[in-house]
Amino acid sequence: MTVSPAQAALPQARVLRTEIPGPNSRELQRRRAAAVSTGVSSVLPVFIAEAAGGVLHDVDGNSLIDLGSGIAVTNVGNAAPEVVEPVRRQVGEFTHTCFMVTPYENYLQVCEELAALTPGDHDKRSALFNSGAEAVENAVKIARRATGRQAIVVFDHAYHGRTNLTMALTAKSVPYKHGFGPFAPEIYRVPMSYPARDPRTGEQVAREAIDRIEKQLGADSVAAVLIEPIQGEGGFIEPAAGFLPAISRWCTDNGVLFIADEIQTGFCRTGAWFACDHENVVPDLITTAKGMAGGLPLAAVTGRAELMDAMPPSSLGGTYGGNPVACAAALGAIRAMRERDLATAAREIGDLVFPRLRALAETTDAILDVRGRGAMIGIEFVKPGTAESDPEVTSRIAKACHAQGVVILTCGTYGNVIRLLPPLVIDEALLEEGLTVLEGAIREHIR
Ligand SMILES: *Cc1c(COP(=O)(O)O)cnc(C)c1O
Repeated sequence: MTVSPAQAALPQARVLRTEIPGPNSRELQRRRAAAVSTGVSSVLPVFIAEAAGGVLHDVDGNSLIDLGSGIAVTNVGNAAPEVVEPVRRQVGEFTHTCFMVTPYENYLQVCEELAALTPGDHDKRSALFNSGAEAVENAVKIARRATGRQAIVVFDHAYHGRTNLTMALTAKSVPYKHGFGPFAPEIYRVPMSYPARDPRTGEQVAREAIDRIEKQLGADSVAAVLIEPIQGEGGFIEPAAGFLPAISRWCTDNGVLFIADEIQTGFCRTGAWFACDHENVVPDLITTAKGMAGGLPLAAVTGRAELMDAMPPSSLGGTYGGNPVACAAALGAIRAMRERDLATAAREIGDLVFPRLRALAETTDAILDVRGRGAMIGIEFVKPGTAESDPEVTSRIAKACHAQGVVILTCGTYGNVIRLLPPLVIDEALLEEGLTVLEGAIREHIR
């Protein structure tokens, strides 16, 4: 785990000078209530003044350990020098032309990198967008147009975004969908392999999902199967081995496109460039965003050339999609991932964290499962000795970490999973300290 110059500039240490949130954050929170919609909430209402590597410095002089990376975005660390420098340069050169009006080279370079890095060595093309949800929407557009079919198959616990089409693709009602309908049609949901709660093999669950598709839809009406190779918001659910390959094989055999949503799992997070790499699954289309551009908004759909080039001129795009500043950031972030070998760093984080959490899980029956890959790590909490989800204890543990200056996120259809998504460059001592706080909070709050 390498230390960057920016990390050296901002001490990589937890420092608590006030209670969390401090008085300045509380004052800003009051102003916020009068200006910002209640629909947009924050996990931890601590306002940030500066950040680097694995720490967030707030407006009260506290330094927090970041175990969330702004939801798997700052994989290369906050304000990574490899990102900051090219962004500064690009802002000084030009900020926007709209690629659909007059193009520029760094958009091409990002697409070339995506072709090289994403799974499969076939001929690929990409299109760039602003957000993950926008990328998913466009993947669905492309799949429908390229196949001439309409049905899209998604999974239990799936999360694909908050726009109208992606709300329909997302599984969980409250808070993402409730009251926001009507939703887009031709979306069908099938079971997901969930090893902690379902002992069947990956192939057995895939067989059930495929049976449903064949009986309820008919393969020839399905444009695409859309799946997160490891589910994110839904609970860090990694399907049993064999599940993804079986679904992917069925898709290929039936002219159905396999779309991997790697928005949360991508860009070294799981210890490989993409989570599909772990089982040698090659998607027809892949959506990326979050970790790609070191914090700047950028997303992509990358896919087989014949699919992507079946799109008529002007059928894809957007005013800001592939903004040159965001592209400069992405090229810098990708360079950092390559040069600092952050896929290996993610595996090292996993090697450090999993044994500690598994040892703790051995001592209690309030933890159903510790799971994930690399630096994408989930802990599922249940009422002791049962399989009943315990969102209350999960939330208490997260809040206890927050009060001690450790930014920890939760997730899961039942809100009972703590998820760790540290920046892949996090200082080892800082990570250990964050873990110690988390372990203490777990011991204190489980019943
Ligand atoms: C975050 C996320 C999205 C949505 O991305 P936004 O940039 O928030 O629109 C879609 N899919 C997955 C798997 C995600 O984790």
